[in-house]
Amino acid sequence: MNRKPKIVILGAGYGGMMTASKLQKANAHHDAEITLVNKHNYHYQTTWLHEPAAGTLHHDRTRMRIDSVIDTNKIHFIKDSVTEIKGEEKKVLLASGELEYDYLVIGLGSEPETFGIPGVEKNAFSIRSVNSVRLIREHIEYMFASYNNEEEKNEGYLAFIVAGAGFTGIEFVGELSERIPELCEEYDIDREKVKIYSVEAAPTALPGFDEELVNYAVNLLESRGVEFKISTPIKEVTENGVVLEDGEEINASTVVWTTGVRGNSVLEKSGFETMRGRVKVEKDLRVPGYDNVFIIGDCAIIINEEINRPYPPTAQIAMQQADTCAKNLRALLAGKEQLAAFKPDIKGTVASLGGKEAVGLVGSKKLYGTSASAMKKVIDNRYLFMLGGMPLLLKKGKFNIF
Ligand code: FAD
Ligand code: NAD
Repeated sequence: MNRKPKIVILGAGYGGMMTASKLQKANAHHDAEITLVNKHNYHYQTTWLHEPAAGTLHHDRTRMRIDSVIDTNKIHFIKDSVTEIKGEEKKVLLASGELEYDYLVIGLGSEPETFGIPGVEKNAFSIRSVNSVRLIREHIEYMFASYNNEEEKNEGYLAFIVAGAGFTGIEFVGELSERIPELCEEYDIDREKVKIYSVEAAPTALPGFDEELVNYAVNLLESRGVEFKISTPIKEVTENGVVLEDGEEINASTVVWTTGVRGNSVLEKSGFETMRGRVKVEKDLRVPGYDNVFIIGDCAIIINEEINRPYPPTAQIAMQQADTCAKNLRALLAGKEQLAAFKPDIKGTVASLGGKEAVGLVGSKKLYGTSASAMKKVIDNRYLFMLGGMPLLLKKGKFNIF
């Protein structure tokens, strides 16, 4: 090849941004032409989105312009939507053009898992992007504002259903339960009138998480007025709320759908073999059959061999994969054939519960309340530091730690 090889990175989330940043720091632009493609000109922290969704944090705190972190003289940036990947032709189709690549990194993140349940796409909100959470926050406020303007009161305006009590659902319920008293005050509404339901199909909230931590979270949220409906699958979402498996209907004008995620639909559309939209990658993160295509983050499946099940998709794993992916790209540029295997190093899980409350398991240590909440902020700040050093941390960090 007489020209520099072309590396194209799709998606500027945790995986894509960290891969680009690591290649930039390693001066890989001397050896390759590197292009990052993202549908917005900003990067947002998906892990913070439950906060702007409830309105407890402004959405601008969760996002930053890509060119404020990535040097676009070294890494080209294209703001566009990926529509399809043509693996055989080494091409990516964009909404307004196409790109050729020698090496491709796919980090397009996830989409809400609806399990084909009727009415979800039409009637429920989801926590997936800055656009989607801005809509949730505005809708919640509109419901509060509307309530006292109607002669005949619609109690559904003040009922909020969160479908799924996994980590996203619980973190959102935590924020919402903190915000409700403020909204009641602002819109002259009696707190007793407002209902928050956390509806979970499994026999417990936060299935698979430590029982003591789950109990702490549930008790705390109940004390803030959240009503849990456990072992209660939702079978339909209507314009007026949800229908539960046993036929009971809950009247609510707001349903937020947090029942898990699947890989970005671009992968299925592009003909990759997928499971719930995700591709099972090789140990070096390449796609079976494509030795020039890496998939990282929520689009990739990697198996936890201890239990022979996929690791849950997390930012923690996406960032660690970015590290391995950047190293492997550099190895390929240097003409090496032996690539590094990805080994996740799971440091723990911390779930925020709104305000200064959280629960977490870090190593074998259980954390509750303010210490868990402080740990969560340290984790959020650590990411900012890793991505953009002290300037980004000072600009976007969370410093109200205790
Ligand atoms: P993302 O970070 O979602 O990035 C995907 C990027 O691709 C986005 O910038 C998007 O705009 C872009 N994109 C998508 N489609 C296209 C397209 N067609 N064309 C161009 N660009 C496109 N994980 C943790 O480890 N810890 C946590 O505390 C945690 N908290 C979470 C809280 C919430 C509310 C949610 C929803 C998730 C949380 N997660 C957490 C999970 C974590 O956010 C994801 O696992 C992580 O974001 C995956 O990183 P990614 O790079 O694969 O995708
Ligand atoms: P999840 O799969 O963790 O939880 C979804 C929940 O929805 C499950 O408990 C499931 O039983 C329930 N559910 C499924 N169908 C249902 C139905 N019809 N009715 C009612 N409940 C139903 O998904 P998530 O919470 O969206 O999280 C996605 C990923 O992001 C996970 O890997 C998670 O670990 C990660 N995440 C991590 C954190 C954190 O570390 N703090 C926070 C948020 C998300």
